[in-house]
Amino acid sequence: MKLKAHWQILISLAVAVIVAFLLRGMGGEGGPFVDGVLSFCQLLGDLFLGALKMIIVPLVVSSVIAGITSLHGIDGFGRLLGKTAGFYALTSLLAICLGLALVNLIQPGLVDGEANVKLREVFESYEKEASDETREKVAGAQARGEEEGGFFAQISGFLLRMVPVNIVSAAANNGQMLGLIFFSVLFSLAMVKMKVDEVAPLRSFFVSLNEVMILLTKGIMVLAPIGVFGLIVPVVTKTGGELFGYLAKYFATVLLALSLHLFVVMPLVIRVLAGVNPWRHFGVMKEAMLTAFSTASSSATLPVTMRCIQENAGVSKSTSSFTLPLGATVNMDGTALYECVAVIFVAQVMGVSMDFGAQFLVVISALLTSVGVAGIPSASLVAIMIILTSSGIPGAEAAVVALMAVDRLLDMTRTAVNVFGDSCAALVVAKSEGENVLGMDD
Ligand code: ASP
Repeated sequence: MKLKAHWQILISLAVAVIVAFLLRGMGGEGGPFVDGVLSFCQLLGDLFLGALKMIIVPLVVSSVIAGITSLHGIDGFGRLLGKTAGFYALTSLLAICLGLALVNLIQPGLVDGEANVKLREVFESYEKEASDETREKVAGAQARGEEEGGFFAQISGFLLRMVPVNIVSAAANNGQMLGLIFFSVLFSLAMVKMKVDEVAPLRSFFVSLNEVMILLTKGIMVLAPIGVFGLIVPVVTKTGGELFGYLAKYFATVLLALSLHLFVVMPLVIRVLAGVNPWRHFGVMKEAMLTAFSTASSSATLPVTMRCIQENAGVSKSTSSFTLPLGATVNMDGTALYECVAVIFVAQVMGVSMDFGAQFLVVISALLTSVGVAGIPSASLVAIMIILTSSGIPGAEAAVVALMAVDRLLDMTRTAVNVFGDSCAALVVAKSEGENVLGMDD
């Protein structure tokens, strides 16, 4: 009997952790043998990620066009857009408020006086030791922070990304999926306006292209256990060190907030809004969530999310093919929550007290910037930099370098939360459109 896909991925995760610990036992990074193994694993992981990303552009374009043209006219699309945007705004806000409550309650950045000074010193020492690559990333993020700090700049930045000057270069650029979606939506709406027989060949083309992309996703996912192994071994081998000890309370706060959002808030939301059994929905989404966890990229996971939602949850293509690509681009509950916790944490460490007004601004900024964060690993650190810079919190650079050094595990977890949030939107919107989701009406 063939093992189910999610079991294969889970076993591969477990084996990867064991292998990583063996490599650490052999002295970890630095030795020629261990470095050789790590480079090979990295190659396997990069190939898997590359294969998933390779199909994103044709998948997004074909699914949005096939989906929207199958809706009944522009009214149908308007309704779908309204419900989806409303759901995304509501759940992101819930996530941010949860993060805000916990970071104020637990106060991970306010360890006793001396430890706090130590934490600041640690941040600074990490800045000194940072690699050139990290330094470059942080400097780039800071420059963007200075540019995009204000409210108006955030909104105009979003709009400019939405309407790209050149659609081919938007498609070629990982972070520009919003432009691609916008173009595909306009294209579909123009098709809907034309006579059915005039656009029939075009529509059949995109429908077939979409089918091919879904089949390709299945083919790529056969290799998921190998890809996941390749991605996880280097992460676990390289992770560790004293910084984790200093940041333990911070880690606990973030993980607790993310878990509460994933296992309490979102299940309640889908129970109330769609009347579905949340645990069945977790069952349906296993493969996508494990892929999100392993890749730390909601964009790369999109093909798998779409397959799980369409094939296992029974959500129609017309609903999911718009909600999911849009969600992978603009809806990031886990990221929004994380941004809020991280910013307030840094403020606590730096001894900046934030009153209600200042915290309210952080909430709004987290909501706005999470929309612009790309669905790729560690992308939210740019947003954190933007908020820290615009809130005038000192030491932003040192703090972001330190957070970057320990980001992966938190990134993996928040990406799984991001992907689950998108899938809940597809479910709730589909149910509200009278679809038989999760076979509930049978
Ligand atoms: N890695 C996240 C994602 O792809 C983005 C982030 O929070 O850094 O969803």
